Amino acid sequence: MDRCSFCGREKKDTNLLIAGISGHICDSCIEQAHTIIEEENRGKDDFNIDQITLLKPQEIKNYLDQFVIGQDVAKKYLSVAVYNHYKRLIQTSQNDEDVEIEKSNIILVGETGTGKTLLARTIARMLHVPFTIVDATVLTEAGYVGEDIESLLTRLLQAADYDVKAAEKGIVFIDEIDKIARKGDNPSITRDVSGEGVQQGLLKLLEGSVVNVPPQGGRKHPEQKMIPVDTKNVLFICGGAFNGIDKKIAQRLNAKVVGYSASRDREYFNKDNMLEYIAPQDLRSFGLIPEIIGRLPVLTYLKPLNRDALRRILTEPKNSIIKQYIKLFEMDGISLEFEEPALQYIVDKAIEFGLGARGLRSICEAIMMDAMFDMPSGKITELKIDKNFAQQKLEKINLKILKAS
Ligand code: ADP
Repeated sequence: MDRCSFCGREKKDTNLLIAGISGHICDSCIEQAHTIIEEENRGKDDFNIDQITLLKPQEIKNYLDQFVIGQDVAKKYLSVAVYNHYKRLIQTSQNDEDVEIEKSNIILVGETGTGKTLLARTIARMLHVPFTIVDATVLTEAGYVGEDIESLLTRLLQAADYDVKAAEKGIVFIDEIDKIARKGDNPSITRDVSGEGVQQGLLKLLEGSVVNVPPQGGRKHPEQKMIPVDTKNVLFICGGAFNGIDKKIAQRLNAKVVGYSASRDREYFNKDNMLEYIAPQDLRSFGLIPEIIGRLPVLTYLKPLNRDALRRILTEPKNSIIKQYIKLFEMDGISLEFEEPALQYIVDKAIEFGLGARGLRSICEAIMMDAMFDMPSGKITELKIDKNFAQQKLEKINLKILKAS
């Protein structure tokens, strides 16, 4: 009689009994063995700072180059900040704290759609650490309508599958940090999110403290047991467009040059991209409180994307939009090709409609939709997208719809 060589069950008591060279295994033993393997592997995957090979800043930048086009200054700052952050973790783990290395939280300033989120996401992917994106505009002071500040750690916990240790070494990207600037100093703010209160709340997280986090988030589950999360080693990357900050930078620079050889110095400034000269005091005049600025010591900027950058974004990143379409079609045995004038046309449209990099995807989607719908059921094995094809498809839809999305 065949029996499982592990648990001894007879064949009739199992759902499945698999025969090996000199024994048998039943379905429930397979499942149990599988769980054991998973648990073993989970132990290995645990973030262990001693085990990670720390990439050098230049290597980090090379990695970023594969996914993000341009933005060399931001990449350089980010690479150094991340490198130092992880050195700091090593130091903490070795209890060598004679010279305490401070946390290098980062603030990225640049128009929307220039790659701030992409940079943060790519860094997290490189490091294999939990990553979450939170929109600062939904954060409010405790007791106000909206999300409590702790909720951003709830998201990080969720991203870490509730592995608190992993979450404590994760990365949080706080988007639209400019929207919690103090009102009054900032004419563009219209929402009542009580900016300064939120900034005070954030401060606690940025500097590092143990925060009681509601695992489900929100206030809907008052009975939930709080999980303490230490943010000492969480890296915060903040991003914001800071519309109008260029005027504040210009004001400061002009004020500085007046008084000594003014006209000459002024010529040095590249008026097209005032952000190059951004300094912490500009964030302050925009309405961020000094304590927050102090906790975001790495300040850098992203440039608006020009034609050339948009064109490169279409095809150069490792997972570029066009590469993705080619892959999708390849899986149906169809070889897909884009002619250069078609790509130029896509870029033209993105610029014409002020859609930036975000628009490239929606424009491509509009062009490719019919083909993606029809071709998998057809017999054609080759598709070449020329400018004419792109134009025809795009003319059928109203680009204003894309703009709204
Ligand atoms: P931001 O956070 O600055 O508003 P995102 O990083 O969300 O902008 O960018 C939106 C999309 O545009 C990204 O998903 C990416 O596809 C594309 N993109 C933007 N900037 C770049 C860039 N520099 N290189 C490659 N792709 C980019």
